[in-house]
Amino acid sequence: MKPDVSALYERLREKLHDIVPDAELQIKAELAHRILQLKEERNAVILGHNYMEAALFHSIPDFKGDSLELCRKAATTDKDIIVFCGVRFMAETAKILNPTKTVLVPSPKAGCSLAESITAEDVRALRAKYPGVPVVTYVNTYADVKAESDICCTSGNAAKVVESLGVDRIIFLPDEYLAKNVAKETGKRIIIPSRTPISAATQAADAASGADIEYEMIGWHGRCEVHEQFTVEDIENVRRQLPDVVVLAHPECSPEVVEASDFSGSTGAMISYVRDVKAARYLLLTECSMGDNIAAENPDREMVRLCSIRCPHMNEITMEQTLAALEQTRYVVDLDEDLRRRAERSVRRMIEIG
Ligand code: SF4
Repeated sequence: MKPDVSALYERLREKLHDIVPDAELQIKAELAHRILQLKEERNAVILGHNYMEAALFHSIPDFKGDSLELCRKAATTDKDIIVFCGVRFMAETAKILNPTKTVLVPSPKAGCSLAESITAEDVRALRAKYPGVPVVTYVNTYADVKAESDICCTSGNAAKVVESLGVDRIIFLPDEYLAKNVAKETGKRIIIPSRTPISAATQAADAASGADIEYEMIGWHGRCEVHEQFTVEDIENVRRQLPDVVVLAHPECSPEVVEASDFSGSTGAMISYVRDVKAARYLLLTECSMGDNIAAENPDREMVRLCSIRCPHMNEITMEQTLAALEQTRYVVDLDEDLRRRAERSVRRMIEIG
């Protein structure tokens, strides 16, 4: 092994010896070395989402974090190329904020069940049904949906964004569970409209009931295919075996799961919670690679995770694909300029709120 590769391997081994088999770490160290060299040659920056697999997460990103943290980093980079180790909607957000840069997403298959649950046409139909009601859109959507929205939010700032608008009605898209959890946190009521065309009678009934509602949110039917899998029974089973476990749930989990947990927050908030609140063991109800990544950072604490639950889209991003992305300048994220400008308004408004 070359000295640089050997140093990388030692660093990975120190962090990940309990998580990644040694033979795999040696291969990953070679790959990481080539990626880091190419990154310098191409004047690129690599952003790594918290859900990236452990060896990638701990070796190649310049910046790591949740959607909001990476959005902020993407907005300030002076590099020519941004390689986004995350899913497509995240790379699109980087492009929205950096129109003159080349933005690459390492796999064309890195989608998202939430982003795919809603189209720009759906947003226009909701606007027609609820005229004048502002649209808050979760960043886990594609650029055309962001372009139809008034403001974006992440799971970390959703309640703050909703409250910042100071109006009585909000359309909150597309995650049904996040909307319900935000409604609960902010004391709002949520209505999920029917997917089918809504009859005049239903619209009249909605309007009539709306007259008595102090504040309401209108949601959508999208769900994260990872977080919707966690159940209250999972929590009860783990608590029965490990009574001292502290349960952390992502707000894309159902309201029942969030209610049964000890803490709910974005991936960034979960990382801070584990760092700041000392407990012997935690159950992480989120994508299981993130469990590996927190475990590597906190070797003195036990992370219990339900490891069959891996996001298939995040899983598409590998070190091999990242290397190929830099070698071949693939897969380039391009957006129509008018659409990008409209989406940028919503994203920047969110960043200003923080
Ligand atoms: S974890 Fe859920 S929200 Fe995140 S990319 Fe995967 S499917 Fe989408």
